[in-house]
Amino acid sequence: MSLKIFNTLSRSIEEFIPLDPTGRSVRMYCCGPTVHNFAHIGNFRTFVFTDLMRRYLEFKGFEVIHAMNITDVEDKIIAAVRTTGRDLKSYTGEYEAAFLTDFDSLLCARPHLLPHATDHISGIVKLIGTLMEKGIAYRSPDGSVYFSIEKYRASGAKYGQLLNLNFEEMRAGERVSTDEYAKESIADFALWKARMPGDGAVFWPSPWGEGRPGWHIECSAMSMELLGPSFDLHLGGEDLVFPHHEDEIAQSEGAGLQTHGHRFVKYWMHGAHLLVEGKKMAKSLGNFFTLRDLISKGSSGREIRFLLLSAHYRESFNFTIEGLNGARTALARIDELIGKLGEIAGPQTGAVETETIDRFTHSMDQDLNVSAAWGGIFEWVREKNRMVAAGTMTPALAASALATWKRMDSVFALASVSGAAEEIPAEITALLEARQAAKKEKNFKRADEIRADLKAKGWLVEDTPNGPRLKRI
Ligand code: AMP
Ligand code: ZN
Repeated sequence: MSLKIFNTLSRSIEEFIPLDPTGRSVRMYCCGPTVHNFAHIGNFRTFVFTDLMRRYLEFKGFEVIHAMNITDVEDKIIAAVRTTGRDLKSYTGEYEAAFLTDFDSLLCARPHLLPHATDHISGIVKLIGTLMEKGIAYRSPDGSVYFSIEKYRASGAKYGQLLNLNFEEMRAGERVSTDEYAKESIADFALWKARMPGDGAVFWPSPWGEGRPGWHIECSAMSMELLGPSFDLHLGGEDLVFPHHEDEIAQSEGAGLQTHGHRFVKYWMHGAHLLVEGKKMAKSLGNFFTLRDLISKGSSGREIRFLLLSAHYRESFNFTIEGLNGARTALARIDELIGKLGEIAGPQTGAVETETIDRFTHSMDQDLNVSAAWGGIFEWVREKNRMVAAGTMTPALAASALATWKRMDSVFALASVSGAAEEIPAEITALLEARQAAKKEKNFKRADEIRADLKAKGWLVEDTPNGPRLKRI
């Protein structure tokens, strides 16, 4: 069974075939958070979607390399640093830590690579240099460097690959220095922004003078540096299609680092927005919830994850408190069944139910059709409950049902907590032992790092008078 996904580049459903000639490895890049404030759960809808894609690829047997950048220098951050009077690193570091805590609470698997824009300035400068050499970037009188859409198009390249653009509206020579602009105002965009008095200490040297990178070039430079000039998958929320992703294509393909016949990115996937009363959840509209808000009101990251995973990624989804309550009830039904199955199975182990897994795979293969997948899962839950009630659920069948749930849950990662005593993976036990050793040596920094690592892997350490205890988050 092959996976089919909607590729924004072709505006159609395509079979997913990785660039790797052996068909095993997949390189994916997801535009990460701009760490200028707490992320809201709209942002997290996008990150949970990318986590789902990664986990489903792993379920299908691909070896995934997942990169997600941290945007730690950009217009909004500079503005926040200026108004708070703080230094860039301490400011962004605080929101990055908060972001990662929330990311872990939502049971998202940490990306293998988490590059920071400020650690990649030399790569960014190099890429801008290449665009200058190619004649498709130019320095403006104030020392900023812009991407020339006209020169790029004159070279035979297409600007407007992810969406159709109307160039009639564009006035020659027009430039935008801000990172965000609408498609009605297509214009040359900034690659390097000359240092301005309001930038404070946030600037780096470059061949064009002191300044800082534009947002779009950060992602082009980091993704190509880490994953190569051509990679399989690029993901983000739908608002990033234009200008961010269009500009990423222009910069990355404009630099011409790809081998002949290869694109910068083979598949582009975009998640629809999370809405509140029909409007995009956004800080600028003031209609947002952070994960912290919801957790402080009694919800868990797991329930919110489930809610976010209940809708197809390309459908806009209305966030409501009733929806969240519904998620709690639905999860409780699964937990209850898993608990009963655990009691019946006892120590018995079993193989997965092939038919159930095939049905699940068939649904998910259709562009991650979670609605069909959940429909199948809840039908399965009803059937197992009927069997339990009728007394026909034998230990062998229960063990097999548990193995089946575990396999499907490797994609959703909701890890039922109230089920049978969960097996603790060897890697987790080893980490716990390493933490105990570090504590014994009074290396509390290391012990805390291991605790954070365990948390990132979905395990909470509780220190009790009888020693540490591990709990699934
Ligand atoms: P930012 O931190 O603003 O760069 O956004 C991080 C991610 O969240 C991007 O991929 C955005 O497309 C995405 N995003 C922003 N608002 C929403 C929303 N209401 N629903 C879903 N995704 C969103
Ligand atoms: Zn990006």
